[in-house]
Amino acid sequence: MENAFIPLSVPNFGGKEKEYVNDAVVSEWVSTGGSLVAAFEEKIAAYTGMPRAVACNSGTSGLHLALLAAGVERGDEVIAPTLTFIASVNPIRYVGAEPVFIGCDDTLCMDAAAARAFCENNCELRDNTLYNRKTGARVKALMLVHVFGNMADMPAFMALCKEFHLVLIEDACEAIGTYYTEGPYRGKMAGTIGDVGVYSFNGNKIITTGAGGMVVSNHADWAEHVKHLSTQAKADELQFLHDEVGYNYRLTNLQAALGLAQLEQVEGFIAHKHRLYDCYQKALDGKNGYRLLPFCDGIRANKWFFSLHLGERAGERDAFIAKLQAQRIQTRPVWALIHEQADYGKNELYAAEKAQFYRAGIVNLPCSTNLTLQDAERVADAILAL
Ligand SMILES: *Cc1c(COP(=O)(O)O)cnc(C)c1O
Repeated sequence: MENAFIPLSVPNFGGKEKEYVNDAVVSEWVSTGGSLVAAFEEKIAAYTGMPRAVACNSGTSGLHLALLAAGVERGDEVIAPTLTFIASVNPIRYVGAEPVFIGCDDTLCMDAAAARAFCENNCELRDNTLYNRKTGARVKALMLVHVFGNMADMPAFMALCKEFHLVLIEDACEAIGTYYTEGPYRGKMAGTIGDVGVYSFNGNKIITTGAGGMVVSNHADWAEHVKHLSTQAKADELQFLHDEVGYNYRLTNLQAALGLAQLEQVEGFIAHKHRLYDCYQKALDGKNGYRLLPFCDGIRANKWFFSLHLGERAGERDAFIAKLQAQRIQTRPVWALIHEQADYGKNELYAAEKAQFYRAGIVNLPCSTNLTLQDAERVADAILAL
């Protein structure tokens, strides 16, 4: 019998998805009205330990709204990682601002020391505002990404942003469920520590609404502003008065139905991610010079994506991926760096060496929450036989 296809990361609908979506259809509340969006917002708020969560129709739109709520304006600059999915950075352009790129450390998240070096050596503080000496632009915010469900160094970034008066935006699109188990932020989840945080429920994320996102903030008024902007900035329901330029970034009741069923399973999904990670680690880590990248100490990671570094065989990465594909196993390289993308070549870039190293040598392994341990072993055996 031919081996079944093993996808990289697909949704797992083993809970009450059909029941809740069916209820929504039967109720005829399928669009942006209906009670499930608010229910989903409340459940995410409770799960993340925040007073309020605001639903939107993607992680990308959530990041756009977070930047608007943070007051990032045309001509500003935002410190951002070069090793990330492009949706972390495009919203900076949507608001007319420019990213300044920083490389990563061994966690794959932004290098805190390099971000600090940029602020200290290339910028100056005047009247509690940071300015880039070279461009003269105001540096307003820092966009931090919790890559693959790992946790960026929050104590370092919180101190940096406080000292240099930067808004800290957490792109926690991949990191719902990741939290500190030690240190000053013990018990705090990725996305809830900085000024504003964003989660994604895209189809490949650990829980999905098909497409969707959620914004949380430590400023109650920012969260309400995000809600307002996401709903066309309607100030008067009856008269259709709008008090600023808003967006149609709402989540639908159907999507919220899916999200409610998914959230009920998130801890089970994370537990299974841990089992899969352990299986790959046992089978592959240290073999043939391969290294399964660890998640940080002192956290409970959601372990969304697994990164195998090919070591001396990094140069064979794409052949490696193709050979696995021929065996019906889907893997992928980590994203092309953002400063190498068509529209970002002219932006400033600092300390990119590690980002280049990891970009060149990582292959992401199948990690769906419905992947069996037997299938993970098949993947590992196929890799060892290459
Ligand atoms: C998925 C993702 C996004 C965007 O989320 P969408 O819901 O797909 O718009 C942003 N940043 C990162 C790091 C992501 O992985």
